[in-house]
Amino acid sequence: MSETPIPYNQVRVRMAPSPTGFLHIGGARTALFNWLFAKHHEGTFILRIDDTDTARSTDESMQEIYSALKWLGLEWDEGGDIGGPYGPYVQSERKSIYEKYITQLLESGNAYRCYCTPDELEEIRTAARAAKSTRSYDGRCRELTQEKIEGFLVDGRKPTVRIKMPDAPIRVDDLILGTRTIDPATLEDEVIVRSNGMPNYNLTSIIDDAEMQITHVIRGTEHLNNTPKQIAIANALGLNIPQFAHIPLVLDDTGSKLSKRHHGDLVAVNRYREQGYLPEAMLNFVARLGWSYDDKQEIFSVDELIEKFDLDRVGKSGSVFDIKKLEWLNSHYINQLDVSARTDAVMPFWEQEGLVDSDTNRDWLEKIVEAVGERLTTLQNILPQTRYFFTDDFEYEPKAVKKWWGGSDEKKQKTREILTNLGQILEDISTFDLETVEAAVWKYTDENDIKRVAAMQAMRIALTGLSFGPSLFDIVVLLGRDEVLKRIQRSVTYL
Ligand code: GLU
Repeated sequence: MSETPIPYNQVRVRMAPSPTGFLHIGGARTALFNWLFAKHHEGTFILRIDDTDTARSTDESMQEIYSALKWLGLEWDEGGDIGGPYGPYVQSERKSIYEKYITQLLESGNAYRCYCTPDELEEIRTAARAAKSTRSYDGRCRELTQEKIEGFLVDGRKPTVRIKMPDAPIRVDDLILGTRTIDPATLEDEVIVRSNGMPNYNLTSIIDDAEMQITHVIRGTEHLNNTPKQIAIANALGLNIPQFAHIPLVLDDTGSKLSKRHHGDLVAVNRYREQGYLPEAMLNFVARLGWSYDDKQEIFSVDELIEKFDLDRVGKSGSVFDIKKLEWLNSHYINQLDVSARTDAVMPFWEQEGLVDSDTNRDWLEKIVEAVGERLTTLQNILPQTRYFFTDDFEYEPKAVKKWWGGSDEKKQKTREILTNLGQILEDISTFDLETVEAAVWKYTDENDIKRVAAMQAMRIALTGLSFGPSLFDIVVLLGRDEVLKRIQRSVTYL
């Protein structure tokens, strides 16, 4: 622990996830704000793993958090997997450090052992509720006689350790929310070590923040109530206290807190990765959950975020998670990719579906991507929009059939005739390229007084099963003559 004041020009921030589940949007935002703050101030970003809740922490979750953060590009300078000057960065490996501080608290009289059983605690809580007390524990173990303690030990009771909360108000200066003064009557003697000997979050967090020389604790407002407790513990230990910045909640469109419990995997970062959201879009989106530069700008590159991000532009009220905006940003970033990069990006989605393998012609794939153009909101969208290029095993979309092939027998007969003629024309043309195909089709429609759109749509459905998609002539040329004739024949038979 350093006794010297924290040098303000060396920002050290941390994200401290508990590995009890996937990384969610709120966690990603905490990571991003810390990371941006560190980058903006040329400081250090630390990834600490808060895994003292051994029953709920899993290695699988820890690996998933690492991988989600890496996917987002939020690499850390010190952390659980890479170490650093203040390691270890995994709390379950720091027990001996906490023990030293626990002893210090007990010896200085700032903490005491509590022998109350769960049943007794329940009784105390009930009585406190009846008396409308703001504390649910009455501090009865503060002054136990040696005789009483020995009696408890003979009974086999396993004590917890509680911190003695101070009688004076606690002031919390928050860089986002401003200053609050906490009435000590609302704070009770918090358990800092469980009866199984595991220290709890409020103790380990503030000890590590001091040991790791954290200058700013940037985290969600769900921790607001923990902050005065952590300050009290730091004061009792004579530790440096970091500056605090609590970021308001992320809300759903009804104004409720976005949570794992109520929103399931809608909040899981990996879900977006799997669906083909780009990390740049995710970062841009998450940055705007609570932070703004001015009222206008929505699109920020990572470099721009680093340059512009600071805590003074983080709002005091909750921000709403708007999936439409995320889709909009995602399509913006997908459209920024050149055709080759976009082809690389959609490749895993085609491969997963078994549509493409290493033998598939790369040039052809790039042309497909080019034909799709700016129609992707996610990379996964490539599947419904291009599946028919790889297989003719598709159904004709019923609504499209009704509208463009016709509901009546008479209309169907007419469509059948048009498709048959078009098939013949495409069979006969000398070169099967865009200009020749297009000119031949228009010549046929114009000479026979057939509406261009009607012929196009009829053919589109025959080739793709759909009524929308890339330019028809692009599709025709990309499918190639044999495939086009085969599909037209299939539709003629169908009709
Ligand atoms: N382990 C805590 C959490 O995941 C960390 C909170 C903090 O940043 O202090 O919420």
